Amino acid sequence: MATKILLNGCKGRMGVAISSAAAESGCEIFGACDAGDNPADFISGCDVAIDFSFREATPVLADLCGRYGKPLVIGTTGHTPEQRARILKNAEKIAIVWAGNYSVGVNLLNYLTSVAAKILGESYDVEIVEMHHRHKKDAPSGTAEKLKQIVCEARGVGEESVCYGRHGQVGGRPAGEIGVHALRGGSVVGDHTVIFAADGERLELAHKAADRKIFAFGALRAAKWAVSAAPGLYGMEDVLNFSQIK
Ligand code: NAD
Repeated sequence: MATKILLNGCKGRMGVAISSAAAESGCEIFGACDAGDNPADFISGCDVAIDFSFREATPVLADLCGRYGKPLVIGTTGHTPEQRARILKNAEKIAIVWAGNYSVGVNLLNYLTSVAAKILGESYDVEIVEMHHRHKKDAPSGTAEKLKQIVCEARGVGEESVCYGRHGQVGGRPAGEIGVHALRGGSVVGDHTVIFAADGERLELAHKAADRKIFAFGALRAAKWAVSAAPGLYGMEDVLNFSQIK
């Protein structure tokens, strides 16, 4: 039996990609909603909801899923701390999979970045560079934010070590700084590079997305996984079972 999906943001770039990948992934778009539609019309009959819409829509959908006990897969990025807190309250009642990037390759990039940051240590300068199409509404990307967070956790540091853009910096690069840079232009689907630079060598871990279907297949995979997951907050590392890697 196909997994019945309530898709929020169905008319957007990702919504269209998810709709066209659904059948191949063993899913059916049971309810398709966009701005002006009411997801409550479809919630009781769906197995799981997928949200690739706009940050203001996600808390409303999360509350609805919480009320009806339906798992939720969130792809939308750029939420405020208040929106994030309201969404997360629902993880006490339902499974929420929340990933800044649903591509399998990017999730492996996250894992490799964590390993590299731990092994190389603070003597390597870290620069995170991302590029997206000219229409992207938020910057830096959710994926770049996640990569920054991974490096911060590996080093045991916080936002005070992060430098966005480096505009106007004088006096050279402070030791231990983590740089984050967003480029925008053309139709780029999503490029992310993490650079570890030391005296005499540079390691670059890079991922380039060429087609939105990689996110669509990942989100549909997460949706099928979430249907049988216990309430809680999950990432793609749970869906892909990275904890099995020795
Ligand atoms: P898009 O602008 O093409 O589509 C967004 C859609 O949401 C539009 O059709 C818009 O009308 C609709 N929308 C706006 N307000 C709404 C509301 N209140 N209720 C329902 N629908 C509403 O954007 P996109 O490229 O499809 O991306 C959508 C979101 O997903 C963005 O936040 C983007 O950053 C994110 N994204 C995440 C991943 C990932 O893997 N996590 C990948 C790509 C994009």
